[in-house]
This record gives sequence, structure tokens and C-alpha cells, in this order.
Amino acid sequence: MRYSGFRVIKEALTGHRGWGPAWRDPEPKPSYDILIIGGGGHGLATAYYLASIYGRHRVAVLEKGWIGGGNVGRNTTIIRSNYLLDGNEPFYEFSLQLWEGLEQELNYNAMVSQRGILNLIHSDAQRDAFIRRGNAMRMHGADAELLSTAQIKARYPFLNTETARFPIKGGLAQHRGGTVRHDAVAWGYARAADQLGVDILQNCEVTGLVIENGTCTGVETTRGPIKAGKVGVCVAGSSSRVMAHAGMRLPIESHVLQAFVSEGLKPVLPGVVTFGAGHFYVSQSDKGGLVFGGDIDGYNSYAQRGNLPVVEDVCEGGMAIFPMLGRARLLRMWGGIMDMSMDGSPIIDRTPIDGLYFNGGWCYGGFKATPASGYAYAHLLATDAPHPTATAYRLDRFATGHMIDEKGMGNQPNLH
Ligand SMILES: Cc1cc2nc3c(=O)[nH]c(=O)nc-3n(C[C@H](O)[C@H](O)[C@H](O)COP(=O)(O)OP(=O)(O)OC[C@H]3O[C@@H](n4cnc5c(N)ncnc54)[C@H](O)[C@@H]3O)c2cc1C
Repeated sequence: MRYSGFRVIKEALTGHRGWGPAWRDPEPKPSYDILIIGGGGHGLATAYYLASIYGRHRVAVLEKGWIGGGNVGRNTTIIRSNYLLDGNEPFYEFSLQLWEGLEQELNYNAMVSQRGILNLIHSDAQRDAFIRRGNAMRMHGADAELLSTAQIKARYPFLNTETARFPIKGGLAQHRGGTVRHDAVAWGYARAADQLGVDILQNCEVTGLVIENGTCTGVETTRGPIKAGKVGVCVAGSSSRVMAHAGMRLPIESHVLQAFVSEGLKPVLPGVVTFGAGHFYVSQSDKGGLVFGGDIDGYNSYAQRGNLPVVEDVCEGGMAIFPMLGRARLLRMWGGIMDMSMDGSPIIDRTPIDGLYFNGGWCYGGFKATPASGYAYAHLLATDAPHPTATAYRLDRFATGHMIDEKGMGNQPNLH
């Protein structure tokens, strides 16, 4: 069924009896050409592009819980492509371009809102670094604009620009950045992949990888064994646990990252604002809540909830720059498990085991990467060659020294 305004009107007039499930709930088949482990945004996007671009339809996505229950439905919804390094910027710009046409392609309202993102500058050295980054972005075809304090004050009059511990000395804006309704991305990809024949198997936890003579030939699951030509692992915060089934240790630590939503307010925040000096970022949802976050919880964990010291730290960071935040009540908070790679950049690569592929290490920045990650992983799984935008995301770079240390705009696992 295609979704459209006409359809909404028709259903409204006929008692909403015509809506069907957005995707099927099939029984697992004994074998598939390609199995994707993990029904998060990246896994579902991979399955969708495998079917839509590469014509691979004997594909299943195995999800231990429910679609949208992982980080894809837990993040703070920010998309952007404001990276510095050659290994990263073309990939994230490709992703932003895919976001721009995604709703039409999937026929799904994911509430893609290019309301802009602003990174605040607090020192002359930071301005130099941001100018360099803005130039790198523009050389790769992304948009970037350096804003003065006066320009920022005009758009965000309530920011404390003068007397804060870190006075605001300008900002780097990416006007094409913004927010996307996170769980709608999972639902949109799931529905579109299902329509192309992909089996989405929920409540199907992978409990083992079948490896025979150095080749991965299938998986053990809570719904029985399934054979596969290729197996793509795509489980974000659970990467280390799943790859341990293949005897592999990854250059990844799992930490909790928390998100917070205030009570609904009238529109006060037109775009996304990030405050790097205090590690705080905020946007306003369409329902009016201020959606914000900050640092990860410092200890390793596989729990999808965090602890109070970080709540205090994040709110302090917000208050330092937005004194008005202290008058809003916190409505909800939750946590997700971050797959923190040791250089802050992701991995999309084959493994030393034939037929076993790995996608992970997204740290706290993988939501914006969802379309490009799925596209690049599908390319790798279908062709056995890396996608041109993802050639740097090699698993062996930690052994060979070809790290992609983004620092400043990427993630900084070394700080935790
Ligand atoms: C609070 C928070 C804020 C964030 N903010 C942003 C942001 O603003 N912008 C941004 O770009 N990124 C952000 N991120 C990061 C982003 O959400 C993640 O990097 C990204 O969602 C990870 O990819 P995914 O969607 O595939 O992960 P997930 O949705 O976590 O998918 C992985 C799936 O694998 C499943 N799984 C695990 N083990 C197994 C198994 N054994 N068998 C079967 N299935 C299994 C899990 O149940 C899960 O559904 C944030 C994350 C959090 C938690």
C-alpha cells in the first residue's frame, strides 16, 4: 500500500479500516543468500539497499528485540556532515544527500527537517580549527558558514554570549544539517525492505555463528539455525558480544549514552545547537520538548540505561550556556549502548573469516550515517569491494596505524 495524502483522507472517511501492517511477520526460512544480524537503522538500510540497488532479495534481518528498540530509536535525532578528514567527510556528505531524498524514496514520512546545526566557538584557537573544518567541508561539496556572535544572537537571543564561563565568539553553521524522527527511519526502511521481499525476523536473537573451515556458513538463533551465503553483523552496541562468537576481539568498548527530553515548550529553538566546550547539544522536537544530551557514562556497560552523575553533568553543561534551561522540567530520559571505536570512526569491512562481514564502531554519531552506512555495507556484501566513500573504514587500521582520528567533531573515546 502506498502512503499519500489522498490515502489519509480516504481512510479518515472510511473508519481507518484499510491500513495493513507495515511489514510482514514471516517464519524464518532454512537458508538465505545474505543474513543481516541487527534490525537497527543500519541493518535495515543495508537490507533495503541490497534489494533495491543490488537486486538481492533472499535476504533476512535478524533482530533480537523489536524494530526500533535499539539506538536507532534512542538517539537525539541529529543529522549533519560537518567532518574534517578525507576518510570521513565524503561519507557523511553522501549520507546527508541520501537523507535529502529518503522520504520520497521510501514513501515514508520520517520528518526530515533541515533546520540547521550550529557549533559554538569559544576561543580563537577553536575558531581557527572550525574555519579549517568549514573549508574542508566546502571542498567536499558540503555547505558551511562561519557566523559572528551578533548573527548567533539574532537567531538565538537567549544564549548567554557574554558572561558565561565560555563566552560565545562565533559559530560554524551547516544549514543543511538538522533532525529526523529516529524511529520512523527504522520503520520506513523496514517497510520498504519488506516490500522488496526481505524477511524481517523480530524476537530472533543470534546466539552463535557457524564457522566451518574458516568460512561462516550460518547462524544459531533463538528461532533455530539458519544457513547463509554471507553474514553481515550490524549490532552497534552489541558488536563485541556478537563478534566474540567468531572468536574476534574488536577495537571497540561499549558505553551508555543518555538522552533527555523536557516538557513541551512553545517554539524557542529554531535549529540544533552544540556546545563543545561543555559537551552539550540540544534541539526542539516538533512536539515542543527540548531534546538534549552530552557525555557518555564513563564505565563500560551493556545496559540501556545510565546513571545520575551524568544527568547532573549534562544539565550543568546546558545551564552554562542556556540559563533558561533551569526553568524547564525534565520529562523523560533513557540510554543506549554506544559502540565506541578507538579512533572515533566506524568500521565497514570484511573480516578474516570468509563470509563474515562487520559494520560497527559508530560511537555516538551513527544515526546521521544510517543511509550511507546501509548503502556502503550493501555494496560490500554484494560486491566484496568497499564502497568508494567507505574505503578508509578498514578493520585492520588499528594494526596498521591508519587511524581516522577526527577529534573535535568526531567522537573522542580517549577522553572517557
Ligand atoms: C542517547 C543517544 C543519542 C544519540 N544521538 C545521536 C545523534 O544525535 N546523531 C547521530 O548521528 N547519532 C546519535 N546516536 C548514535 C546512533 O543512535 C547510533 O550510532 C546508531 O543508531 C547505531 O546504529 P543502529 O541504528 O543500527 O543501532 P541499533 O538500533 O542499536 O541496532 C542494533 C540492533 O542489533 C540488535 N542486536 C544486538 N545483538 C543481537 C543479536 N545477538 N541478535 C540479533 N540482534 C541483535 C539490537 O537489538 C539492535 O536493535 C545517539 C545514540 C544514543 C543512545
